[in-house]
Amino acid sequence: MTEFDYKTCTGCSLLCEDILFPDEDSISHAKNLCRKGLAHYQALFVERTGPLIEGKEASIDQAIEKGAEILRNASAPVIYGWSNCTLEAQMAGLALAEKIGAFVDDPSSHCEGRLMEMLLSERIPSCTLDDVRHFADTAIFWGSDPSSTQPRHLSRFSYFPRGSKRQKSYEEERTCIVVDVRESSTAKLCPTTTYRVPPGEDLQFLEALLAVLDGKIPKFGDKKRMIELGSIIKKTEYGVIFPGPGMLISLQDKMDRFEDLLRRLNEITTFKVLPVTEQYNSRGFGQLLFERTGRTKAVKFSPSGEAAAGPTLVEAAKEADAILVLGADPLLDLPAGLARAFAAAPLIVIDPRRSLTADLAQVVIPAAISGLEGGGTALRTDGVKISFEPLMKSEQPTDEQILTRIMEAI
Ligand code: SF4
Repeated sequence: MTEFDYKTCTGCSLLCEDILFPDEDSISHAKNLCRKGLAHYQALFVERTGPLIEGKEASIDQAIEKGAEILRNASAPVIYGWSNCTLEAQMAGLALAEKIGAFVDDPSSHCEGRLMEMLLSERIPSCTLDDVRHFADTAIFWGSDPSSTQPRHLSRFSYFPRGSKRQKSYEEERTCIVVDVRESSTAKLCPTTTYRVPPGEDLQFLEALLAVLDGKIPKFGDKKRMIELGSIIKKTEYGVIFPGPGMLISLQDKMDRFEDLLRRLNEITTFKVLPVTEQYNSRGFGQLLFERTGRTKAVKFSPSGEAAAGPTLVEAAKEADAILVLGADPLLDLPAGLARAFAAAPLIVIDPRRSLTADLAQVVIPAAISGLEGGGTALRTDGVKISFEPLMKSEQPTDEQILTRIMEAI
């Protein structure tokens, strides 16, 4: 390995491509890896899965064959997860879903799904993170906390770096605004431009902002501070809103008003929107599914492979007679009712690591770890395609290889 043999971190959807591992046998001296990236790699070395059928050790061939048998005999299969897989694995998984007539969904669909549909159908304007670094003078983190979820977001792109049009220091040329229900780590960086919103009242905040932009007195929040915010926005040359789960879950079916806000902002100046997806290839799955089906979430393939809007995830999970989980831990992450529906169905889990879902699965198929043991491509949170090579060799097959073998066995 040369000194400049850069690797890509798959710890979050920033997919930082400047990671150096000077010591081939250890990750502890890695350069440019943030605390989350380091924890991501450290966690990968503990509690690896082995091939299991009904809790008993099996060979990987037997586990793949058993998984294929369950899916072959299923009349209402579900494939769930996807966000921690490469684009190649997602394409192989979607081919499998088409073949067996599965319902597909991923963990971000209840949150970022609608925003992604609006971005991909160009109803709201977007840009790349490199555009943010070069041009943006105002970044609004609304219900998002990149200092925690994407720790190098502010240093690489949105606040601290110098860009081609932002050569002065961040204090002179960039304004960071946080809209959140709590004092997040990101909010601590800009206490005077943090706006606290009571839980579930993001729509009222949005309406107040629209009122201020139209020169009216806002009926929500601290009027003086809202007018100050309107004034910052009017002086902005190139602004970017980074919506996070706090805002997206709060607005839910009122996202049309967010579209109205973007339209109004762009009558005044330039404003773009970039999602803050957490899992490393969440954007990849949303975009791939959109390109194939015109939807970013909850798609049901018919037995002949045609795609249509599916039921809700909870309805699909309750009806399922087989659930294939890829690189996700739904029994840990989903609400209790939904997790119970998952646990009641025959589960097949493809995962490098042990998890609550893997512990309850009928079939566990171990996989190589993306970015560390398996290479491929993924879409960064802004849609830029990133290729990455494995850091080390592994005996384990990649997600893509496993899915291809399941498809062949079916
Ligand atoms: S910001 Fe994300 S991709 Fe970059 S080093 Fe940290 S965890 Fe890895």
